Amino acid sequence: MDKNKDVIYNFSAGPAMLPKEILKTAQLGLCNWQNSGKSILEISHRSKEFTSVIESLEYNLRDLLNVPKYYKVLFCHGGARGQFSAIPMNLLKNNGRNPDYINSGYWSYSAALESRKYCVPNIINVRKILNGNHCVCSIKNWEINTNNTYLHYCPNETIEGIAIYEEPYFKDDIIVVGDFSSTLFSRIIDITRYGIIYASAQKNVGPPGVTIVIVHEDLLKEPKIVCPSILNYNILSKSNSMFNTPATFSLYISGLVLEWMKKLGGLKTIQKSNEKKANLLYNMIDSTDFYINNVMNHNRSFMNVTFTIANSNLHSLFLKESYDFGLHCLNGHNVIGGLRASIYNAMPIEGVMKLIKFMKIFEKKYE
Ligand code: PMP
Repeated sequence: MDKNKDVIYNFSAGPAMLPKEILKTAQLGLCNWQNSGKSILEISHRSKEFTSVIESLEYNLRDLLNVPKYYKVLFCHGGARGQFSAIPMNLLKNNGRNPDYINSGYWSYSAALESRKYCVPNIINVRKILNGNHCVCSIKNWEINTNNTYLHYCPNETIEGIAIYEEPYFKDDIIVVGDFSSTLFSRIIDITRYGIIYASAQKNVGPPGVTIVIVHEDLLKEPKIVCPSILNYNILSKSNSMFNTPATFSLYISGLVLEWMKKLGGLKTIQKSNEKKANLLYNMIDSTDFYINNVMNHNRSFMNVTFTIANSNLHSLFLKESYDFGLHCLNGHNVIGGLRASIYNAMPIEGVMKLIKFMKIFEKKYE
């Protein structure tokens, strides 16, 4: 057998790679969860057994992210896109004040477009191109509206591979809402700077089906505009995310992933490892003219490394040969094309080393 094929590494942007040991544990849970004679799939969400799953998930989430008591953690349905609607529906006040939406790429802009169904967002473009490289201007230069109802932004644009590492430092009365779908659990963040943080699970947390919402308790008021109960934070909070049947299997796997993160040493260790993996890859790309990444250093994403080949005719060959080498899902998102390696927490450094090895071989062959 081809030695390179022994281990397959999956660079998908989400649903993304999960730690192998968790898949093995989940296999057991699928047939006979904790020797109960039942599958985790068959257990009622209101049972004592499942309550312990969701309670320990929330405990570990709070512990890893250092979430203060005065924030509520909700496990919702509908993905991050569901939150694109939930945010305006829960936060708008019917007082004519509009939100600010920071546009740094595809996902933050999509959130702004969705909010237009409920309000007239001020869309603030913060992307710039300097010497052919993309960057985001510093937060101090964002021309925000001091009278806004809230400010929405996305610290990691999964498609473009553009990240904002500065944390928001506005005046206290500005409610900051963050789409942390491809950021949460990748590095240390200061929750207290935000009114709401939300993230769909399928990157660093688990399988799709769970959307995490961390919301300051002051924002848990009855919405002032029509809001479906399933997106109403007040209702979800009062029912402890059990207003309807939650995605039990996804929550179970997410719980295992969070335990795994704690065993690794928590976010400090994870952040270090993510920076190391990404830097190895960016250094490789920068060492040659064959591959190109056109994001300025301080906005380069540690989670989604986007790149192209100077001769773009080689992209499909790259995808075919990398697949044969055991490196899967390196295609860029349809919206921008090119190539992308998503290297979330579960991607071991060996996966990144193998990708670098392949990139060098490919370059030699076709330069
Ligand atoms: N925001 C970001 C930053 C994302 O990466 C994604 C998914 N790739 C979404 C929103 C949409 O998430 P979902 O498909 O769970 O609605």
